[in-house]
Amino acid sequence: MATFKFAVLPGDGIGPEVMGAALDVLEKACEKSGDELSFSTHDVGGIAIDNFGTALPDSTLEACRRSDAILFGSVGGPKWEHLPPKEQPERAALLPLRKAFKLFANVRPGLLYPQLADASPLKNERIPDGIDIVCIRELTGGIYFGEKKTWAENGETAASDTMLYRVSEIERIADVAGRTAMGRKGKVCSIDKANVLETSVLWRKTVSQYFKTHFPQIELTHLYVDNAAMQLVRNPNQFDVFFTENMFGDILSDEMAVVCGSLGMLCSASLGDIQNSLGLKFGLYEPAGGSAPDIAGQGIANPCAQILSAAMMMRHSFGRGDTAAMIESAVRRAVCDGFRTADIAFGKKPVSTTDMARAVIERL
Ligand code: NAD
Repeated sequence: MATFKFAVLPGDGIGPEVMGAALDVLEKACEKSGDELSFSTHDVGGIAIDNFGTALPDSTLEACRRSDAILFGSVGGPKWEHLPPKEQPERAALLPLRKAFKLFANVRPGLLYPQLADASPLKNERIPDGIDIVCIRELTGGIYFGEKKTWAENGETAASDTMLYRVSEIERIADVAGRTAMGRKGKVCSIDKANVLETSVLWRKTVSQYFKTHFPQIELTHLYVDNAAMQLVRNPNQFDVFFTENMFGDILSDEMAVVCGSLGMLCSASLGDIQNSLGLKFGLYEPAGGSAPDIAGQGIANPCAQILSAAMMMRHSFGRGDTAAMIESAVRRAVCDGFRTADIAFGKKPVSTTDMARAVIERL
């Protein structure tokens, strides 16, 4: 028996609703495995701006530092949209958290159960067995973090952003991709734009060398990002694990999310090299979607993405792959047994957020 310590940051909109459901499931799952949870809840995002004047208060950051993982809801909403970009909840909370804990790898499973094929905009015959792929995005480098400039030039304004990658940054994300593929079909596709960008030429060379040395058993392929975007809608299951740099990953991971149906089903883990007190990876776990202000407060949000994010936390930060698998299987069975929130109902009578969580708990 062990005690697992994590910080809970529900955030805004549907965040607190789906977080409550996920914690109920997690507590029940850990009761079964004989483990204990020790967590404290803290403000982040818009609610933190209201209560503390900043999206990431020092007290929240400190609580995360004292923890072995972060379970994150979602932040933002119309109330805070008037703020300057730098103070917006997402940018002012998530980016500093990623930076503080050096979370350089975002792992997002693209999982669509065959029973939910109607949720995908793809024709059912293209995905007869659903979808099961993983997108890994480099999170702390590239054009979002390079030098930014705006200047006056010949009577007009010009601006530039710099895309920069170092070999060490490419190798460490390649390592995450390789390890992820080892536990799956052993296939990795690296995505770049090596026909145009210097950073991509370095990316491709470094990745090829890294896999040759460290993962000779993995089947490595390369695709240009424009082609990858097409392939992802043409036949998503041709991928097993694909990985790419920050901006390409930002775009492709959202494309993958829409191909996989509802945002309410998709979870993610942001991981780095920092070890927690258990000697495992410190990580931030959150749903792929946002705070969904259009449905917030109605008790109808799909809690599955948050529940599955909690399962990822059990696997990566607490070394409880068995508990994670138990939760994942319970979610799958609840959905396949016909329990559906409105976003995945498709003619079935929709259930509430709490009823969905209850259905998962009953199947643990
Ligand atoms: P969104 O992901 O919040 O919502 C897009 C659509 O998906 C909406 O129709 C919403 O109802 C639906 N949806 C999302 N999650 C759902 C769930 N669990 N159950 C059922 N339906 C769900 O994206 P948006 O509307 O572009 O953004 C809303 C706010 O969220 C913005 O302020 C944005 O900045 C923020 N946001 C935050 C994060 C984050 O915290 N990581 C990520 C994306 C967007």
